[in-house]
Amino acid sequence: MSQPHDRVYNFSAGPSTLPVSVLETAQSEILNYRGTGMGVMEMSHRSAPFEAILQEAKANLTKLLGIPENYKILFLQGGASTQFAMLPMSYLHNGAVGRYVLTGTWGKKAVESAAIYGSTEVVFDGKAANYNDIPSENIEARPGAAYLHFTSNETIQGVRFPGEPKWQDPLVCDMSSDILSRPVDVSRYQMIYAGAQKNMGPAGVALVIMSDEMLAKSADGLAPMFDYKVQAENDSLYNTPPTWAIYICGLVYKHLVDTGGLAAAQDRNERKAKLLYDAIDHSHGFYKGHAVKSARSTMNVTFTLGSDDLTKKFIKEAESQRMDGLKGHRSVGGVRASIYNAFPEEGCAALADLMRDFAARNG
Ligand code: PMP
Repeated sequence: MSQPHDRVYNFSAGPSTLPVSVLETAQSEILNYRGTGMGVMEMSHRSAPFEAILQEAKANLTKLLGIPENYKILFLQGGASTQFAMLPMSYLHNGAVGRYVLTGTWGKKAVESAAIYGSTEVVFDGKAANYNDIPSENIEARPGAAYLHFTSNETIQGVRFPGEPKWQDPLVCDMSSDILSRPVDVSRYQMIYAGAQKNMGPAGVALVIMSDEMLAKSADGLAPMFDYKVQAENDSLYNTPPTWAIYICGLVYKHLVDTGGLAAAQDRNERKAKLLYDAIDHSHGFYKGHAVKSARSTMNVTFTLGSDDLTKKFIKEAESQRMDGLKGHRSVGGVRASIYNAFPEEGCAALADLMRDFAARNG
């Protein structure tokens, strides 16, 4: 079945597919945003229409995630990777320790960046098992811990936490690759952050949701762009923010609200992921999932085939059927199907069909 606008099934890990209706709205407003006579890209970030775009985006995000009143929402630049630095810069002062749970590549990058600024402690490292699982033991709180950082979904390995961990240290979570894919209890976290380019919008903006308590503890004397307090006091408008990216994120939030919120998104995502995991599990070992079953991601489905040649052949056949972006990251190999919120269920069904058919012909 062909897709609207002759689009492919885009399995890219990010930037990744966005809802067609959002892109159509953006297209229809690109030259003249709602009678203003100009497009959002051309509009002052201090104008009334942009101010309304920003406030509506925050209101819809608050509705989706149930963000409590004592939290701030910030739209910052430099992607999620800048948060790998801004967080330790702000909190690892006076001997405070940043604790890190490593369940994949991104958590590792986060702690490497933090170690430049202060004391860090790795409390779990899944490296020995090539990052295929999350910690099974409780992680005891540590006095003097500024925060305990983890990655809710490791994009490269396809390993995710099935729910909020029960740990008692102040929780900071990199939710870049599964934010808005399911409901979360924001009050369990001191800070959540995410690059936009998977579930929210275009690259170029990172979302930070931070408690007032955490905000108050951030270091003084940082350059204003790296100072959470300055960003919060200026409502993300200390300098020129990525206005276009914020606008698209706002359209995506509205679209999610209009399509039943995060519980409905979770249902769709679980159905989509099940199509692919069933194809893996019923393949008699032709496909091998990377993650252990209890830590399987609903966003990035990772699996390997028997050889590099078979993998290449599989990806080539998928491309000939208009399925794009399936090559796994080199550290895991094989195939990675990224199926974020906006990825259509029919695309998962099409890939599962190909997986069964390909195994039957090559097994
Ligand atoms: N964290 C996770 C979980 C990611 O998947 C990524 C990007 N793929 C990043 C952080 C880095 O994001 P950015 O490119 O926005 O800096």
